[in-house]
Amino acid sequence: MEGIIIEVKPEKYIVEINENVVSAVVRGNVKKKEKLLVGDKVLLSKENDVYIIEKVFAKKNSLIRPPICNIDQMFCIVSKNHPQPDLNVLDKQIILCEKNNITPIICINKTDLEEENENYKYIKEVYSNIGYEVLEISAEKGIGLDKIKEKLKNKISAMSGLSGVGKSSLMRKILNLQDEEEIEVGDLMKKINRGKHTTKYVKLYYVENGYLADTPGFSSLELVDGIEKNDLKHYYNEFSSYTCKYQDCNHVTESIEECSIKKAVEEKEIDSKRYERYKKMYQTLEIKDKMKYKNKRR
Ligand code: GDP
Ligand code: ZN
Repeated sequence: MEGIIIEVKPEKYIVEINENVVSAVVRGNVKKKEKLLVGDKVLLSKENDVYIIEKVFAKKNSLIRPPICNIDQMFCIVSKNHPQPDLNVLDKQIILCEKNNITPIICINKTDLEEENENYKYIKEVYSNIGYEVLEISAEKGIGLDKIKEKLKNKISAMSGLSGVGKSSLMRKILNLQDEEEIEVGDLMKKINRGKHTTKYVKLYYVENGYLADTPGFSSLELVDGIEKNDLKHYYNEFSSYTCKYQDCNHVTESIEECSIKKAVEEKEIDSKRYERYKKMYQTLEIKDKMKYKNKRR
């Protein structure tokens, strides 16, 4: 029979098989070959009432912090206000998705708040132009939840976003929990360890015929860790249809004659603010690289 790992505990795996939750162990040779993660699709056998994981199917993607795999889509959550959307963080959320073959769905929460702000309007316009879906929701007032539930079907989904944007509130609404009810592992860990490293705990909830991950890890957003500066450009959707003079053009130090991205920015085909954020991130990664090199030589 086939199942999906929804939680990893010391020495055992919690697996969902056709809406039944069971506890399973893993065959020694399987464990030796690879690390099993939340999200893994597995083949099981049953011997004397014990479920045994016999095989792990190939992973679509795999993240280290938090340890989870096979994510299909990510609700990249920002809030309209309180706090105002952080565009650098939103870009990082999307980079994480693009890098790992995850479909980002941008959700602007707290749209019940009436005060307008620039970033809110900017996101709706610029990011949908690039080709990302932008949903306007309110976890508190229940606005747009039907759209989110629709998206959950047959997919493994996760949420990312800074602390305070409303991830737990949205999670509670989707799972139909009362305000006082704790969401188990992730949320609880988040509350206990507020501010500390809480990237280890993750659990999948079966809901609306799909799975939703509770992962406080994605709120800390050290998302661009491990990204090679020369790869950064590949994670910008709007760059993909342009060809520059040099194949390894990074669209930063090259001249406008050589770089079709710079040209497109000048001609307003590419949003200049997002390009500037790209440039800044590239330069930050470059500095990190140089520091690493320096430290090595010492
Ligand atoms: P998290 O840190 O991302 O999990 O955010 P929380 O779910 O803890 O929410 C942070 C704060 O925002 C809480 O005070 C919530 O009541 C509030 N909040 C969450 N969703 C909404 C919303 O849709 N509208 C408004 N006005 N407040 C919200
Ligand atoms: Zn270029």
